[in-house]
Amino acid sequence: MIADAMKITIIVHLSPDGDAIGSSLGLYHYLIELGKEVTIIVPNRFADFLSWMPDSQNIVVYEEQPTETELIMQTSELMFALDFNTLSRIGKLNNVVSKISCKKILIDHHRDPDNFCDLTISYPEVASTSELVFRLIYGLDAINQMNKSCAECIYTGMMTDTGAFTFNSNHPEVYYIISELLKKGINKDDIYNKVYNTYSADRVKLMGYTLSEKMEILPEYHTAIITLSQAELDKFNYQEGDTEGFVNIPLSIKGIVFSVLIKEGKEMVKLSLRSRGTFPVNKVASTLFNGGGHINASGGESYATLQETVAKLKAVLPDYKKQLEESC
Ligand code: 5GP
Ligand code: MN
Repeated sequence: MIADAMKITIIVHLSPDGDAIGSSLGLYHYLIELGKEVTIIVPNRFADFLSWMPDSQNIVVYEEQPTETELIMQTSELMFALDFNTLSRIGKLNNVVSKISCKKILIDHHRDPDNFCDLTISYPEVASTSELVFRLIYGLDAINQMNKSCAECIYTGMMTDTGAFTFNSNHPEVYYIISELLKKGINKDDIYNKVYNTYSADRVKLMGYTLSEKMEILPEYHTAIITLSQAELDKFNYQEGDTEGFVNIPLSIKGIVFSVLIKEGKEMVKLSLRSRGTFPVNKVASTLFNGGGHINASGGESYATLQETVAKLKAVLPDYKKQLEESC
């Protein structure tokens, strides 16, 4: 399919994270090396801490350039969908995607992908889509066509989807892959610094405020709940990505295995759910908040108020008490 196409587009999910941007740019650099015309299209903006990635300035943001996006997609001969499993994850970009008839390939690691592509490459047991892009290139015997930029982007996605290799990262082959990426000349310590040590002062202050004032601990349920209203976010000049990682912090408290960040947005309330051990947060996300994701990292949304959303979550905790205890 790659051989038959010259104009190729790559799309990823809403609020693209390190793996979405890393995997799409990784694939982009490989395809550019093959001489293809490649465009990455994202539904909305991505966080600044990813903008150092080579060629990220070429990424087209649908929300900001709808007409250009449509033109590019209409002439596309092949489309890759990366790091999502259902078209609802790309928001309004779906209006464009559903109109085009070119061949489509899904590469993803979320469970139970919908059947919207001609070829579905789905490996839920693999920690990141970026790792799958590496495996694709490697499997095509094309490691020689992988340049340093490609390797940097793939490494970034692998790193961010595993919390810098602190979860979902026990497979020995992950470290074989990293050694191959290092051979391409990447500086992994530098990449870590570029992704994790570039916060604004406002972001660090928001984190301090959140942890000290807005983290509620429910010891009997081994649960922590953080809420942030739009007004609170405004007070700290909230920028996209500023709350990234907040939800993981309560899991560093002894006895806490379930952590939820509930954030008021302009159109909805967004939830991020995390757990340690066997507690399936994707089940909570899908049954209560029309969401999903992985067993230890999921998300969802709510159209009720912030307070109502918290109440809805708290109301089900007794039902999960046993599972929460078992996860300790
Ligand atoms: P985050 O909390 O970082 O936004 O999302 C964690 C994971 O949850 C993502 O990798 C994605 O798999 C999943 N996720 C987040 N938001 C949603 C959502 O609204 N719907 C679904 N189905 N999955 C989501
Ligand atoms: Mn991912």
